[in-house]
Amino acid sequence: MKITEIIAHPLSTPLQQPRWTAHERMSHAQMILVEIRTDQGIVGYGEIAGGPQTVIVDLLKQFAPVIQNMDPLGHTEIWEKLFSLTCPRPGGIGGWDGMPAPLPRNHRPQIMAAIGGIDIALWDIKGKAAGLPVFRFLGGTRTEVFTYATGGYYLEGEPLDAAAKELAGFAAQGYKAVKLKCGALSLKDEVTRIKAVRDAIGPDVLFMLDMNAPYNVQGCIEFAHAVAPHDIFWLEEPLHWYLQPADFRRLADASPIPLAHGEREWHRFTIRDFIDSGALRYVQFDSTRHAGFTESLRVAHYAEQKGVLIAPHSVGKLHAHLVSAFGDAAFAAESHGDHSRHPLHHSVYQGGAEAKDGMVCLTEAPGFGLEIDWKAVEHYRA
Ligand SMILES: [Mg+2]
Repeated sequence: MKITEIIAHPLSTPLQQPRWTAHERMSHAQMILVEIRTDQGIVGYGEIAGGPQTVIVDLLKQFAPVIQNMDPLGHTEIWEKLFSLTCPRPGGIGGWDGMPAPLPRNHRPQIMAAIGGIDIALWDIKGKAAGLPVFRFLGGTRTEVFTYATGGYYLEGEPLDAAAKELAGFAAQGYKAVKLKCGALSLKDEVTRIKAVRDAIGPDVLFMLDMNAPYNVQGCIEFAHAVAPHDIFWLEEPLHWYLQPADFRRLADASPIPLAHGEREWHRFTIRDFIDSGALRYVQFDSTRHAGFTESLRVAHYAEQKGVLIAPHSVGKLHAHLVSAFGDAAFAAESHGDHSRHPLHHSVYQGGAEAKDGMVCLTEAPGFGLEIDWKAVEHYRA
């Protein structure tokens, strides 16, 4: 089998209302759907989160001739070939050896995102070629995996207990675990929000905090002690963007709450050092943001050996396959409690894994099992 075409479909739609995390304003839902065609008629689909979309689409155009005519089942060779473009190589300057010149360092996050989208599409092709869903291809048997619902984004003018109503609604839908965006307000106001959520969801629902990097180590230790009485399951991405495994380790040593981290990491090498630090109980590498399913698998195998539980960030429709395949070494996939958070996921994709009663239910459709609603693609095309 040979790759014949790589097509990028950048999609975007305004959210009903702009919302904030502690770090940034979100006015739109966005994704790039990556379509890879083959000479045998099998078509694979991948997804890229992140931007700017124009930069990533340009990179996909550059990558197309590099992997055209390669065997799409050779995902490792393709991954390594694309990744190698991020580094100097003998004779590589100017692209005089027939490959693109080493890619600019200021585009690294977009490069890793583009590799990710291609790689996910290759796994979709692989499953379709084998006639198996990806989780079965990997040896998984679980057709239902635990999931949690994320909410509590900040909306302008909302009262502090707004998130409590929202997350209690997720619990009423059957979710046994919910995750609250936090970290944007004063410690006092955050404790008020968090107490309101715990009171609303009751004692039996697992309750995670998604922090989006608002603290230094000392500030986060104070935060952790202030919120711990509300039975918090994990602190996610607690520390500022520049802080490293040693800092997370200092936090973990002083925090009564376990740490989760990984969505902002670009590849397995930084994840390795976070895992080796002993700071993390949960690792949240995101194949749609960076480096794809192949890198997620590498991360998952390493985490399993080190006793760190796998909890992939976002896009449960894809990542549930990984969670299924890793048995007790994986904790959960992530879901949107509310479709309005990402209207694209809930209209462009038809079929595939679906959240129901607190579990993501996988199907036997080959690959990732996603049908594409092309009318929706045209409607949301950026
Ligand atoms: Mg997060």
